[in-house]
Amino acid sequence: MDLSILRDALQHGSRWVLDYFTRLPQLPVSSRLQPHELRQSFSPDFPIQGMPLADILQEVDEKIVPGLTHWNHPGFIAYFNSSTSEPAMLAEMLIAAINTNGMNWKSSPANTEISQLTLRWLADMLGLPHQGVLFDGGAVSSYHAILAMRNHFYGEHLLEKGFFQHRGPLPRIYLSDECHNSIDKALYAAGFGHDSLVRISTNEQFELDPQALERQILADEADDRYEPIAIMATLGTTSSTAIDPMEPIMAIAKGDGRQLWVHVDAAHGGTAALLPEFQAAYRGWELADTITVNPHKWMFVPIDTSVLFIKQPAIFRRAFSQEAAYLETDEDGLIDNYMDFGLTLGRRFRALKLFFVIKHLGLEGLQARLRQHLQLAHHIYNALEARPDMELLAPLRMSTVCFRALPPNSSTDLDEYNKALMDRINERGNFFLTHTRLREIFTLRIVISSYHMDRATVDRLLEELTLVKEQLDINIITYK
Ligand code: PLP
Repeated sequence: MDLSILRDALQHGSRWVLDYFTRLPQLPVSSRLQPHELRQSFSPDFPIQGMPLADILQEVDEKIVPGLTHWNHPGFIAYFNSSTSEPAMLAEMLIAAINTNGMNWKSSPANTEISQLTLRWLADMLGLPHQGVLFDGGAVSSYHAILAMRNHFYGEHLLEKGFFQHRGPLPRIYLSDECHNSIDKALYAAGFGHDSLVRISTNEQFELDPQALERQILADEADDRYEPIAIMATLGTTSSTAIDPMEPIMAIAKGDGRQLWVHVDAAHGGTAALLPEFQAAYRGWELADTITVNPHKWMFVPIDTSVLFIKQPAIFRRAFSQEAAYLETDEDGLIDNYMDFGLTLGRRFRALKLFFVIKHLGLEGLQARLRQHLQLAHHIYNALEARPDMELLAPLRMSTVCFRALPPNSSTDLDEYNKALMDRINERGNFFLTHTRLREIFTLRIVISSYHMDRATVDRLLEELTLVKEQLDINIITYK
């Protein structure tokens, strides 16, 4: 390693990052580039000769930065935010420098043991007895949960004949319409067909209705064509952060001699359990078989950091262990090897960034930021509620506000009007927001979960909303 090149790279890097965060609030939050534009601005020919790092950074500034949608921008209020923090960025640099592969304990003991330690801290802070495994995203965490569940019920058959020979009753898996589409994707990818996915209705708060769930399970149990095997619940649904009622769901899943597998997708909402205020609403989730929680959503750890909490590690080991002479070590059996808990072999030292964030902020620091987000979201919710030209479309369960604006003319199509409002706000570049559909209604979402969010930004957002709406209304009135 040429240390002078390294020194140069680090100096460039730290200067660039500081400069980036200085100018970030003035940059348009979302990119104005058209599809293909960025790629076409580069020569299609690969470089034959290398170029100095300073020149590459100049290209980053000139070409790549305009193509960025800035997830760390204070005005980023779209999707579920993923924002980074100082301790996490420092850890990312160390991860790249150390570059260990934690496929088994021997391949880098600290990778495995810091993961175990940090995920134990996280589980304890969330009030969960589970053991954690890190994956790169919520979709992949849930996919592993579903593969393990599939193996738990059909493992022997799968091993011998593969899934396609299955002749028994059709497995039935229960999920609500508000489930994230990654759950559907994972179920299909795991080999469950359309007829195995049973939709359960939600109540007015968009929470899975436990009575409807029980009715459906009882009906399926009475029908020998079906075998109920699992329930997919969500704590913090993507559209409106609804919280499925875990206590009744667990009672149905595990009561009356049943042993249904319960997977909880708490990719975003899991973080809220760091606050005692959420304990009552989440009660029962500690009994779930598997739970997805993404620190890269609301815990200020950069993407890609998702935890799958698992209740019975032995089921995972059975599903995912495969022997190979080249991976045998003397310590096998003394400590877990993470390669036995999922499909991935190579494993970056992701745990280090979570370790840094938890150590630097502590539980109290994390709680303070979450409470600030909840207060800011309440402020927005109350401000919109007070306005006759705004309609709230979901209860405020966490810090995501779901609403739509009402036009001056009742003849205006509400969905088109709100899409136009969203597009105009996004075009201005100060804020970036996205939409969903709740009961088919086009719904705007304001998500307050960024490390970089503050009261001044929220005040600017409310002003911007008023201003852009007024301009849109003038247009509608003038051209009608
Ligand atoms: N589950 C829920 C509830 C989500 O909202 C999301 C993404 O927003 C996911 C899962 C997917 O997470 P990831 O993007 O980390 O795969």
